[in-house]
Amino acid sequence: MTECIFCKIIKKEIQTTKIYEDERTFAFLDISPVNYGHALVIPKVHSENLLEMKEKDLTAVMKTVQKIANAIMKGLKADGFNLGMNNYPAAGQLVMHSHIHVMPRLKNDGLRLNWPNKKYANGMDKDVAETIIKHL
Ligand code: 5GP
Ligand code: ZN
Repeated sequence: MTECIFCKIIKKEIQTTKIYEDERTFAFLDISPVNYGHALVIPKVHSENLLEMKEKDLTAVMKTVQKIANAIMKGLKADGFNLGMNNYPAAGQLVMHSHIHVMPRLKNDGLRLNWPNKKYANGMDKDVAETIIKHL
């Protein structure tokens, strides 16, 4: 018996407002939307986050994200959309089943989904980039 709420949603053990399903992915409305139409796209195979996802699920999820975003733009007459994925609790992940948020945006909707920024001290960006590159 799984305790994962998104696995339960896929298995229809928990009611949800489904908008799309295929062999590998499932999309449904977020229960607490930032704007109406805010959707979640998830792989059917359980993984906790992006780093655990297999290549086939990554591809399938992104295809579904594009499909949903297109339908949100056309159907809901959205002016744009944000994609979001919280990975690990430190990044705000509450449900430990990989999911991508597709959030419709309207001109002047007043949402503050943009994050504040820092400045690199002289040369620090190169050090940071080198550290990342070493781990690719
Ligand atoms: P995150 O883990 O990225 O912080 O967010 C989890 C998201 O899942 C939240 O936006 C929350 O509203 C949504 N959520 C949590 N439980 C349920 C549920 O049972 N049904 C639906 N449709 N959405 C849920
Ligand atoms: Zn799960």
